[in-house]
Amino acid sequence: AKQVRWVPEHMRQRLIDWAESMDWDWVISRQRIFATPIPAWYCTSCREPIVAEERQLPVTPAKDKPPVERCPKCNSESFEPEQDVLDTWMDSSITIAVHAGWPELDRRLFPADLQPNGTDIIRTWDYYLLVRHLALLGEAPYRTVLINGMVFGEDGRKMSKSLGNYVDTTMARGKYGTDALRQWAVIGASTGSDIPFNWKDVDFGYRFMRKFWNAARFAGPHLNAKIAKLDPKKLKFRPIDRWILSRLNRLIGQTTGWLEDFQFNHAMGAIQTFVWHELCDMYIEEVKHRLYGDDLTADAARYALYHVMLTAAKLLAPFTPHFSEEIYQTYFGKDHPYPSVHMSSWPEVNKKLIDESAERAGELANLIVGALRQFKSERKMALSRELPSVVIYTSSRETAKQLKEVGDDIAGTMRVGKLNIKVGKPKLAERVLAVEPEMAKLGPRLRADVRLIVQALREAKPEDLAKQLAKGKLKLRAGGKRFELAPEDVKVIKETASAGRKVEVIDIQKPALTLLITSPRSGLVRRRTRSTRRARRRSAS
Ligand SMILES: [Zn+2]
Repeated sequence: AKQVRWVPEHMRQRLIDWAESMDWDWVISRQRIFATPIPAWYCTSCREPIVAEERQLPVTPAKDKPPVERCPKCNSESFEPEQDVLDTWMDSSITIAVHAGWPELDRRLFPADLQPNGTDIIRTWDYYLLVRHLALLGEAPYRTVLINGMVFGEDGRKMSKSLGNYVDTTMARGKYGTDALRQWAVIGASTGSDIPFNWKDVDFGYRFMRKFWNAARFAGPHLNAKIAKLDPKKLKFRPIDRWILSRLNRLIGQTTGWLEDFQFNHAMGAIQTFVWHELCDMYIEEVKHRLYGDDLTADAARYALYHVMLTAAKLLAPFTPHFSEEIYQTYFGKDHPYPSVHMSSWPEVNKKLIDESAERAGELANLIVGALRQFKSERKMALSRELPSVVIYTSSRETAKQLKEVGDDIAGTMRVGKLNIKVGKPKLAERVLAVEPEMAKLGPRLRADVRLIVQALREAKPEDLAKQLAKGKLKLRAGGKRFELAPEDVKVIKETASAGRKVEVIDIQKPALTLLITSPRSGLVRRRTRSTRRARRRSAS
């Protein structure tokens, strides 16, 4: 047990504890109907056991004759067969040697590199393999034992028919496909830990493949053998391309390391995050506007996309074998000599492509693109709608330099008419556009008089009203009556302006950035009323 590598390592102790706790020999006979017969007979008169000779094997003692005519002890001619059969572990305890061609041993296959099994059979299979091979061949039959946890029901209890918490794998496969189920099994728990079944993870696995498939379907028409064979040295990569290629090469290194270390859940999680968030959500969106071009930067985007997608399919191959094969056959297979993704070589890290500065620039681009995307979506603006102007302020010259490198990517992705990057802080002025009545409050209280208030609020200067409100209350005179309003009776509508133009402001914390956006609706949102428009006219004049 100590010569062998155990994954996870603490599982070794389970075997040692088991071996040390045993009080009796291995009972190899069982009373079962089906199993390997024990090749023995007994003399009916003196009970002398007669064992089959090696050349006779395999024998069924109930049907076959013993190797002797007469009992060597009492000369009797009558024998009865052994009724018991062998313990099933007796057969499987020689598995590894049999795989290696025993009794001749193919040393390429022995000892086995890996013995994978569940926690439940450490005391049986792992133990008997060791015992039998040590007895027979004097050496341990495996180099590494990989112990997997057990699958539990969604309720965290062992799956059982009586508890009704079991999931038939055909159900999950039928609904989501095998590769979705496999992703749950991989990501559900760290190696050696028990895994509760989880429909959510299976569903996520399915959605992950759909996401990747849709991305491949979008990118596919732009990818071909000619792109794959371009000389990268001649292409004009933008920082965003260098970012994704750098991230991809890091991912190759991490995934390979985790697989060597049997940390499947880490590998799967990192690939999912990369494909979903970095490749599909960011990179593809950020190069869409370049893919239709016909120059060296368009070729660079296509080249990067080709290699990133193909490599991602290869990295996924051990986890989602059918899906990866489908991606490979549909979009890449014709360009490569390998008939299957599973016969292609495992991706290798290209250290030259790992580029920290491109990663920082890429992350900045993603941050800004994400913020502008959210800005548009919150305003129910089409993502393709142009933003006439965005100014990004940063206090760091270094950040400003990096932002300038990815400026075109940001502007192209988010349809920014004019993107400026400035060092420093923006000078912002707040302007009160209008003070509007809260009808829900004032209506019931003032009834018909509310019209007088509306009129008075419209006619006064919004800045004056806001100043009064800031002191706690608002006194109005209308239709010969006096009214006193509290701050909660009205709402103050403001806008932010920079250099005399109305802007919307997004503050980003890490790194500290301020975005000033002139949106196409530099006017006001629709729900604002006539009074606001009048106020705007007034403030404009
Ligand atoms: Zn006898």
